[in-house]
Amino acid sequence: MIPLPPEFETVEAKLRARLITGHEASQAIFVARRRLGPPWHWKSWKAARKQVLGSACETCGAGKEAILYVQHTVRLPKISTYKELAKSDLAGRGVQPVDYSSIRQQMYAIRAAEEPEERDCCPKCSSLSIQYRKKAAAWICNSKSTGQYCAHVFTVPAKMAALTADQKKSIRRKKHQTWRNTILNRHDDWMRNAMLAWIGEMRVYLSLQHTKTLCKRCAFLEDMTDHKPCRLCGFAYPKTEQICPDCEQPDSDQRIIG
Ligand SMILES: [Zn+2]
Ligand SMILES: [Zn+2]
Ligand SMILES: [Zn+2]
Repeated sequence: MIPLPPEFETVEAKLRARLITGHEASQAIFVARRRLGPPWHWKSWKAARKQVLGSACETCGAGKEAILYVQHTVRLPKISTYKELAKSDLAGRGVQPVDYSSIRQQMYAIRAAEEPEERDCCPKCSSLSIQYRKKAAAWICNSKSTGQYCAHVFTVPAKMAALTADQKKSIRRKKHQTWRNTILNRHDDWMRNAMLAWIGEMRVYLSLQHTKTLCKRCAFLEDMTDHKPCRLCGFAYPKTEQICPDCEQPDSDQRIIG
C-alpha cells in the first residue's frame, strides 16, 4: 500500500546483484532513514492511512464520534533484531569464512603477470630517481634513500628491471578488484542477510496488511498498557482475563498480538 522508498529499493537491488556489501547497504539505509524520518511522517503514509482507516474501532466498536487511528498489529521492524538473527543463523550454519591464503595467491599472480621493463637508473646507487640535464648533457641522481643525496653525475645510466608507474597503477587496480570481488561474494556477510531480511519486513509493514482501526482510548490501552476495554461496558481490564469483571461479558474476540 505504501511503496518502499526508492532508496531502499536501490539498496535491495544492489545487494541482490552483489554490487555492494552488507556493511555498505547498512550505511546507505542509515542515511536514507535519517533523511526520510519514521514512516508515519511520510506523505505516502498519510495518503494510505485514509484508505485503510475503518469507520469504527475494531476493539470497542466506537464509531464516528470517536477519533479513529490506524494501528499496526506488528512492530516497526528493527534492524538490530535482524542483525542478531543473521549473526546467530550464520554461526549455526558453519559457513566458510574468506580464504585469505587464496586471496594472497591471487595477489601474487597479479604482480607476477606484470613484466618489469628495463629502466634507466643511477650506476652508483641503482635508484630510479635520476634526472637528465640538457645543459650539462649529463644525468644526476636525486636519490635520498640513504639519508643523504646521492647526487652522482653520469653520462650513461645503468639499466635495471623495474615496474613503470603505469604498471604499478594497473597492479593496484587489479588487486583492488580481486579484493572487492571477494568481499562482495563472501558467504559470511551476515549484514547482507540482515539488511535483505529487514527490507523484506519493511515491505510487509508498509503494505499495511497488519493494521486495524482503533479509537484513541483502545489504541492507548493497547500501546501503553496490558489492558483491554470490555466490548459491552468499556471497562478496562487485563488482556489475560476472559470475562469483564464489571459486567461479566465474556471476551469472545481473543486476539493474540505479537
Ligand atoms: Zn475502541
Ligand atoms: Zn645514485
Ligand atoms: Zn463489561
